[in-house]
Amino acid sequence: MGHLATKKSYTRLRERLDRMPVGAPGRTTIYEILKMLFTPEEAELASKLPMRPTSIGRLAARLGQHPDKLKKRLDAMADKGLVLDINIGGKMRYALPPTIVGLFEFSMMRVREDIDQKHLAELLHRYILEERDFVESFNRDAETSLFRTLVHEETLPDYAEVLDWERATYLVERAGNWAVSLCHCRHVAHHMGNDCQKFELDTCLSLGLAADYLTRRNLGRKIEKEQALELLARSRDAGLVHIADNVQKRPAFICNCCGCCCEILQAFKRFRWMGNTFTSNFQASPTREKCTGCRKCQKACPVDAITMVDDPHEVDGKKIRFTARVDEDVCIGCGVCALRCEYGSMVMKPRPQRRIAPESTFARVMTMALEQGKFHHLLEEALGGWSGQLAGALVGAIMR
Ligand code: SF4
Ligand code: SF4
Ligand code: SF4
Repeated sequence: MGHLATKKSYTRLRERLDRMPVGAPGRTTIYEILKMLFTPEEAELASKLPMRPTSIGRLAARLGQHPDKLKKRLDAMADKGLVLDINIGGKMRYALPPTIVGLFEFSMMRVREDIDQKHLAELLHRYILEERDFVESFNRDAETSLFRTLVHEETLPDYAEVLDWERATYLVERAGNWAVSLCHCRHVAHHMGNDCQKFELDTCLSLGLAADYLTRRNLGRKIEKEQALELLARSRDAGLVHIADNVQKRPAFICNCCGCCCEILQAFKRFRWMGNTFTSNFQASPTREKCTGCRKCQKACPVDAITMVDDPHEVDGKKIRFTARVDEDVCIGCGVCALRCEYGSMVMKPRPQRRIAPESTFARVMTMALEQGKFHHLLEEALGGWSGQLAGALVGAIMR
């Protein structure tokens, strides 16, 4: 492939990825990442793949290729985490994964010898946590997040109403398939010389179709339901946050995250990425009369939502100078602080306004696309061949 043609393949791939609700903006680092992950030929093929899982027959017809040859190429790319192949009702369907959650995570979910993962880790860290292109490409007024925090169920008061899709254990119980992979973020942190002090690397929990994909493609290890539940319990005891796919039904993952390594939590702390749209429906609230000012909650909070304020008071006849205060706009409702508080002061309370997670991945993608101003790209793809301009005009007319 000539130099110019090669360059165009990566440009087309970046533009293709950027049409998804979570895109691939930027002019430099994103290209360095794509060039590490894809050969020019793979980039060219990937740039023509749909976002929606599609059968090999339809794909072959659309791309003008022989189905067997195309399948072989796609399978080889799926082995590298560059293509999603999903078993829907016994039939395999192929799609291009988004950058997040997708290409970036898959690239670090196992140890690989075929690429320089240390360099890749540096690029991913720079792209997500140092440069602004990626985080600032998100509409700050959007209400729908990619993720949502699952409150630690043990911290909830008896009166609290918690729905099934808000409970990590329920989501795990119902999944059908379970897999564990290397935690992308801790793996990146390891290559950056910051090994996680809180938890092991082998912690990324995938569920359902995602678990099936990751185990088939050697990007994760199949585990049983009991092991998945045990992983949840151990990560809770280690003071980690459960962050799940923001859907009510069939979530793809529940991450067990720490404030030190997790890119979601770090991007939130640094840039308020995604605002506080990924909070659970609960928030932490200290009880002044019980707060001994011990600071354990403050040290445990993964997003620095707790400060100690000068507020002299008495607890059991003892004079106390400081009391904990929670910034409700920063609190993501994880419950980690309440688990750490030994004095019954920090409790979880329902938020005044409940957030309802999208019912399915389809609903989340549609809502996010609308909020991120990318719905016309989905429409264009669904209508197969309409120009982006025409689809954009149609969306504009509908929205008026
Ligand atoms: S989001 Fe959390 S568990 Fe998932 S890869 Fe990052 S730190 Fe690991
Ligand atoms: S852990 Fe409990 S007692 Fe200690 S500062 Fe926090 S709220 Fe107060
Ligand atoms: S204050 Fe911090 S630790 Fe406590 S629930 Fe909120 S985000 Fe979690």
